[in-house]
Amino acid sequence: MYLKQLVIQGFKSFPDKTVVGFGHDITAIVGPNGSGKSNISDAIRWVMGEQNSRSLRGQKMEDVIFGGTEKRAPVGFAEATLVLDNSDRALHYDADELMVTRRYYRSGESEYYINKQSVRLRDVNELFMDTGLGRDGYSNISQGRIDEILSLKSTDRREIFEEAAGISKYRHRKEETERRLATTQDNLTRIGDKISELE
Ligand code: ATP
Repeated sequence: MYLKQLVIQGFKSFPDKTVVGFGHDITAIVGPNGSGKSNISDAIRWVMGEQNSRSLRGQKMEDVIFGGTEKRAPVGFAEATLVLDNSDRALHYDADELMVTRRYYRSGESEYYINKQSVRLRDVNELFMDTGLGRDGYSNISQGRIDEILSLKSTDRREIFEEAAGISKYRHRKEETERRLATTQDNLTRIGDKISELE
C-alpha cells in the first residue's frame, strides 16, 4: 500500500484544485517559507481523521478552509482526497485503489467518503487503525513530534507500540464496551431504585 496522490481544493493556502503525485520512491516537497509545504502534510493528517485543529496549526476547524487573500475571495468549504494503492490489501477494503475524502463546510458540517460512498468518521478511523496511518499513526511525524514522543509518559508511549503491533483496535473496542457496560450498570441501578420505590 502506498500513497499515490493527494488532491486538495479550498484547503488552507490552496483555493484551486491541486493534485500532488507521489511515486514509489522518496518525494521531497521544497519551497520558500510560507509557501504551503506543511499545509500539504496537514491535509494528509486531516483526511485521516485529525479532529484537533491545533494539531493542524489552527485555532478552530474552520481555519482549514481557504480564508481568502487580497486577490481571492474566501471559499465555502475545504476538501482533500487521499488516493492510496491498496493492491496488496494492506487496508482491509476490497479494492485495488482507495479514495478517502473529507469535506468541511463553514457551517461546521463534515462529510467523509471512501471510494465516493458517504461514510462516518468512525469508518475512516477503522480503515486506518493498526496500519500506522490514521490520526494517531506514526507514519506522519510533524515538527516537534519526536521530542514529544520522547517526553511522553510511558503509558502514552505504549499506544504508539500498540498501533505498530496492530492491537489498537482491540483497545478501542474494549474502551467502547467498558463505556457501554458503565451505562448499562447506571440504567440497572436506576431501575433498581424505581423497583424499591414501588415495593
Ligand atoms: P515553512 O517553510 O516556513 O515551514 P511552509 O511552506 O511549510 O512554511 P505552510 O506553513 O504550509 O508553509 O503555509 C503557511 C501559509 O499558509 C501562510 O502563508 C498562511 O497564510 C497560509 N494559510 C494557512 N491557512 C490558510 C487559510 N485558511 N487560508 C489562506 N491561507 C492560509
